[in-house]
Amino acid sequence: MTEAERRAALEAIATEVRDCKRCRLHEGRTKAVPGEGHPSTEVVFVGEGPGFNEDRLGRPFVGRAGDLLVRLLGSIGWRRDEVFITNVVKCRPPDNRDPEPDEVAACAPYLKRQLEALDPALIVTLGRHSMGRFMPGARISQAHGTVRPIDPETGAADAMVLAMYHPAAALRSTEVERQSYADAGLVPGALEDARRRRAGRRSSPPGSGSDTTAGSPPMPRDAETVAGPAESAVPVATATPDGAPPPEPQAVEVAAAVASAVGGAEYGLGNRPRDIEPARGEVSDPSSLTIDSPATDPSDQLPLF
Ligand code: URA
Ligand code: SF4
Repeated sequence: MTEAERRAALEAIATEVRDCKRCRLHEGRTKAVPGEGHPSTEVVFVGEGPGFNEDRLGRPFVGRAGDLLVRLLGSIGWRRDEVFITNVVKCRPPDNRDPEPDEVAACAPYLKRQLEALDPALIVTLGRHSMGRFMPGARISQAHGTVRPIDPETGAADAMVLAMYHPAAALRSTEVERQSYADAGLVPGALEDARRRRAGRRSSPPGSGSDTTAGSPPMPRDAETVAGPAESAVPVATATPDGAPPPEPQAVEVAAAVASAVGGAEYGLGNRPRDIEPARGEVSDPSSLTIDSPATDPSDQLPLF
């Protein structure tokens, strides 16, 4: 799929979501929250469901939990408009209760279709409800900060998942907050590993599970030079559709050298999730995404771990 096709597919899903009445959560919503982000990103963050602020604005992670998510992304040199951010359920559960299994099941086809359109290399789950979709049976206290391959049944045909705590949980506990920053530091390395795994699989013989048919994207989809903070512009590793090896070890070394020179994590700065053009007219200044939150954001009351 081209970027324009992915964008169109995501818009079509969003349009359906905004009108959806497949489960009782539509009754209490102000606005459904389909999700947003860069249509060509390699990384998708999946939260639980909209809270108070999200329901008012129709956008994911725009309250206090969203502010923390932006800070976690900032700690690895990323911005929210470089990734895609969505939730397991697209409408706010009343009083921010946990989504019921039948609501999660009713909403699941939307997330699946979003993942089919985005074809991410890496999914980062935020909280245990999201983790439950991609790491069935895992316990968040043990699974956070760990990476696994994803079942293609989820819609993500060839991806890895990294589990993190929910940012709202980190707002309630300094220990969870500390763990969350540590886990966020693993994201760029997990993306590197996921890219390598995909490049390997996509250059293996037909019938072995790889997808090298015409139109299937190289990994990353576009050869590019990404500009991080001005001094850390680094070529990103690319693979070619015909299976030529990616020129990545060098790029990774450069990224690591840049990161360590500026005090970043091992793979930190420079290893960006593809393009940095703002998606679909999204605001590119993360600070302008913050809206005034009530003193107590009800979305922070969730028992998330
Ligand atoms: N919490 C979530 O899980 N998702 C949001 O979009 C906001 C808060
Ligand atoms: Fe539809 Fe999902 Fe909203 Fe339920 S939560 S009404 S399935 S969009």
